[in-house]
Amino acid sequence: MRSIVLDGKSVAQQLEVSQKAKAQQIFEQSGIRPSLATILVGNDPSSAIYVQMKVNACHRVGLGSKKVVLPQSTTTDELKKVIRALNADPSVCGILLQHPVPDQIDEQACFDEISLENDVDGVTCHGFGRMSLGRNAYGSATPTGIMKLLKAYEIQLEGLNAVVVGRSSILGKPMSQMLLSENATVTTCHSRTKNLEEIIRNADLVVGAVGKPNFIKDSWIKDGAIVIDAGYHPPGIGDIQIESLKNRSLAYTPVPGGVGPMTIASLIDQTIDSALNRLMK
Ligand code: NAP
Repeated sequence: MRSIVLDGKSVAQQLEVSQKAKAQQIFEQSGIRPSLATILVGNDPSSAIYVQMKVNACHRVGLGSKKVVLPQSTTTDELKKVIRALNADPSVCGILLQHPVPDQIDEQACFDEISLENDVDGVTCHGFGRMSLGRNAYGSATPTGIMKLLKAYEIQLEGLNAVVVGRSSILGKPMSQMLLSENATVTTCHSRTKNLEEIIRNADLVVGAVGKPNFIKDSWIKDGAIVIDAGYHPPGIGDIQIESLKNRSLAYTPVPGGVGPMTIASLIDQTIDSALNRLMK
């Protein structure tokens, strides 16, 4: 079987064309160049790279960016104050607080300080609740990107037996909700799941969101399944051992070049949507 490569890099590049046009239209009609505000707390080198990639994407499509960098010792109250100031800035049409923040900070409390209209990374409790109930809200960027990728390849989800491995609030849980909203039958697995291998053997679609390199073995995945790997471990290993799946899955995401570019594309899409809602009324 020749598997379909779910090429996130190429789909994201196509999305950038319409993102550029929309950003230009907003600027011409409102005179404002909308910005994504990014907040990086501490000295984690990977987080600094992820933030820079998002800033670069803003510049490629013609959005502004406001980069806030805070020291490792920042408190919850200090971070909340910064977020409140960004909420009040009319040129800011989205706020990205890079995860993870240092341990002394209550991350969810800070996420929840982001106003719903600025929650373009889908991290607030309010946004998650609304998205889960099918109400208008921005979804968490990584699962939203995965859904866009599946849609770009016209993969039908209705009735599929979907298994999501991981239940983090930014990835596994919203992923499960989004698949459920598309009428898949969803099983969410985590570190206390029993018989993981057996559950995965039954899956028509598997999402790896574990954070452990090659944790899900290719031998656990049946022929013809759809394989989505959200993991990334330098230099280019995912959470799913992919080798034999490259020619016996229905479709799979490469690592890198699958889910990663779609995460950024979704963040930018949602920032532009927020700007359109605010500046073009
Ligand atoms: P996380 O917060 O560490 O969550 C990992 C999840 O995996 C947890 O729910 C955990 O279960 C589960 N898990 C751990 N060990 C397990 C086991 N033995 N069996 C089954 N489940 C197990 O990670 P995350 O932030 O969701 O990220 C997951 C992966 O996605 C990472 O590789 C990360 O780098 C990647 N990621 C990629 C992007 C992108 O743009 N491509 C964005 C975000 C994240 P418990 O809840 O029981 O602890």
